[in-house]
Amino acid sequence: MTSWWELGENRGNIGSKLSYREITCPFCEESGNFKLAYHAEKKKPNDSKVLNFDTLECGNCKGYVMVLWSANTYAGRTGLYAYKVLPWPIKYNNYPSHWPEEIGRFWLQAKRNLKDENWDASALMARSSLQIALRDQQAKGQNLKQEIDDLSDKGILPPIMKEWSDNIRELGNESAHPKPGQPATDPKDAQDVVQFLDFLLEYLYTLPHNIKQYRNRNTNDR
Ligand SMILES: [Zn+2]
Repeated sequence: MTSWWELGENRGNIGSKLSYREITCPFCEESGNFKLAYHAEKKKPNDSKVLNFDTLECGNCKGYVMVLWSANTYAGRTGLYAYKVLPWPIKYNNYPSHWPEEIGRFWLQAKRNLKDENWDASALMARSSLQIALRDQQAKGQNLKQEIDDLSDKGILPPIMKEWSDNIRELGNESAHPKPGQPATDPKDAQDVVQFLDFLLEYLYTLPHNIKQYRNRNTNDR
């Protein structure tokens, strides 16, 4: 799509009007239980195309979603409409298939625990995923921080990741085994280490995968 006026024109659902049935509440995850709270529309100048701006209220939890939707305009064609919803339900069902299985499994649990505000569990799972990723890349060192430095020194990770890792407090936490009196994980620290993990996996696995796909595509085109 290169313009919002194309919304619903060539791709979308069959029908001429938004169906609430397809929309899931991002707060309570109930589907289709909405009533219209506010409606506005904008018409394309010198054209019959209309963009609809609907605010829907969830009948279950009283949360709100904003839906931008539009139906296609041309007579004689099958009725089509498309929509965009904000906010959408955030769910982590899977990890990218090009990641090693155990890295993805721990990453998924880090994300889900973050969403549920289980900060200790999230940070622990993030460190576990990191540990496997670093060893998978043959990193040397006694702890996560040293292993990150090692990969950076070898040019596998960029220097900016090494510098960033100095500020991630959870990387210095070696305790997979809890001790009496151990303080709770700070929410910010858990979020930081998961974000660091996201970038590290992007850099170590996703970027090389995408470049490989790009190269294969170019070779096949020739
Ligand atoms: Zn709801």
